[in-house]
Amino acid sequence: MNKQNITDIKGQTKKIACLGCAIQKGDVESPGGSIASSKYFDAHQDYEIPIPGFIILVSKRHLQSVDEFSEAEQRDFIKFLCRLRSGLRKALGIKVVYIIQEEDTSHHFHIWIFPRYAWMAKEFGHKIQSVRPIMEYARENLKTAGNLKKVETAVQKLKRFFKRIL
Ligand SMILES: [Zn+2]
Repeated sequence: MNKQNITDIKGQTKKIACLGCAIQKGDVESPGGSIASSKYFDAHQDYEIPIPGFIILVSKRHLQSVDEFSEAEQRDFIKFLCRLRSGLRKALGIKVVYIIQEEDTSHHFHIWIFPRYAWMAKEFGHKIQSVRPIMEYARENLKTAGNLKKVETAVQKLKRFFKRIL
């Protein structure tokens, strides 16, 4: 697998082949660490984009598509996804998310659970076409101490929430 440079939310760059595998193996740490885990999946703050509550649901196995899931993974997946969505609503008050998966990624299976905040619609509009510009804006402009603190606080709130309900 080709290695590529990937820069975390604090601006540190590392060379990684598959981000999912690198986090699983502990070669890199997601911002604030794992938020919640099921038998076959894990969830963490997005590695690159400093938006509070931008959660990545990732398979523990290196696979590309939902049609590679075993029966057990299928059942585990939908429960875990629903639990994460509920956590974003209850712990962070996030009313709307976009759920996105790209199969043509160099990293293994992961889902973006992308929260929508009022400032996003105001600056960038709605729907899927607004997501990439928002991410680029956040990557360029939101690595400030104040915003990184918000990201960290969101991670802590989610961790506490999932610890309570597990
Ligand atoms: Zn992988």
